[in-house]
Amino acid sequence: MTGFHQATRLQGVRYDVRGKNMVEAQAMEARGEHILKLNIGNLAPFGFATPDSVVRSVATHLPESEGYSDARGVPSARAAVAEYYQSKHLDVDPQQVLIGNGVSELISLTLSAILNHGDEVLVPAPDYPLWTAQITLCDGKAVHYLCDETRGWNPDPDDIAAHITARTKAIVLINPNNPTGAVYSADTVRAIVQLAREHDLIVLSDEIYEKIIYHGTHTYTAHETGDDVLCLTYSGLSKAYRACGFRAGWVVFTGSLQRAHNLLEGVDLLANMRMCANVPAQYAIEACLSGYQSIDELTAPGGRFEEQLRLSHDLLDQIPGVNCVPAAGALYLFPQLDPERYPITDDEDWALGLLREKKILISHGRGFNWPNPDHFRLVALPEDAVLREALGRLAEYCEETRRD
Ligand code: PLP
Repeated sequence: MTGFHQATRLQGVRYDVRGKNMVEAQAMEARGEHILKLNIGNLAPFGFATPDSVVRSVATHLPESEGYSDARGVPSARAAVAEYYQSKHLDVDPQQVLIGNGVSELISLTLSAILNHGDEVLVPAPDYPLWTAQITLCDGKAVHYLCDETRGWNPDPDDIAAHITARTKAIVLINPNNPTGAVYSADTVRAIVQLAREHDLIVLSDEIYEKIIYHGTHTYTAHETGDDVLCLTYSGLSKAYRACGFRAGWVVFTGSLQRAHNLLEGVDLLANMRMCANVPAQYAIEACLSGYQSIDELTAPGGRFEEQLRLSHDLLDQIPGVNCVPAAGALYLFPQLDPERYPITDDEDWALGLLREKKILISHGRGFNWPNPDHFRLVALPEDAVLREALGRLAEYCEETRRD
């Protein structure tokens, strides 16, 4: 008898940021070892609790949450999302909003509705790897454009233009960016949108870190796409509202909707097939967007999180051969290990060594579809004392693996 095998469509789908190193960390923890985790942007376990008022709003609405909601979401949540974007001077009606179980579900759902076999999608390198994985799963092809470390990790529009072919259907922007911490300049966003306009591409704009900004300002891609470019803007409660576990997010459809009837029917079909998003969590959306707006500790200049990012950057800066662009937004740093001094051929193995020898878990750069084994991502969520300990051990490991 033959064994049971995974479907062939999974071939080529990679999600290494939750791959073998994470499995090893779990096994080590099961043996009683204590791991310092700098690998995941999951806020609540690090003392960035979901605001009480948001938790209460879910609890209050539990009795109303027994049935399925409309597949596109509860009316109050859709209205709150529309009003939020209206307050940012974007012309959004609740009909243009779809609520989902986090941005992740909506990325999967919308790409499934958009892509045909062989369709190409331009994706940043490095990226949030769900984008590449889901495009591959939908039988499309992720074509990576490089973000330029020497320009604060802004994408290079010329490099994007060079990758456009007759099969290119869409372009993904992640702004503010995971894993680099970049906040794209308005000029960069405009230049990318202009390419989309010229080549009739759908713009897929992942703005989940929109409110977590330390330097610069956020440019809403939908502002730039106007009426003539189809734009899907994704955001949700996981990051700014520290509610990863609630699984609540939205996608907003703007721009040339009159040309997108058929596509939107496909989105509705897929939304109906999964009934609806988790109803209690949908009620948290209104609480967040129309009530609780102060996200003090996270985004306030000089607040706990910015201080931790700065500390992490300073400590990394002291390690010979480690170069790190300061983060302007989001929760991450994406430092480079100078290839002259760190002759790494497999960055996942290098990170595994760090885990086994120093009990520190980070994410290797190629897990984010970065082409070379010379970067890693660090999440600056633990408190100062833990960061100092973790980065001290990282410095030791760097010294042990460095060629001087
Ligand atoms: N997009 C980006 C850029 C992210 O970093 C994440 C999570 O880390 C997501 C989407 C997924 O968010 P959600 O928790 O809403 O599924």
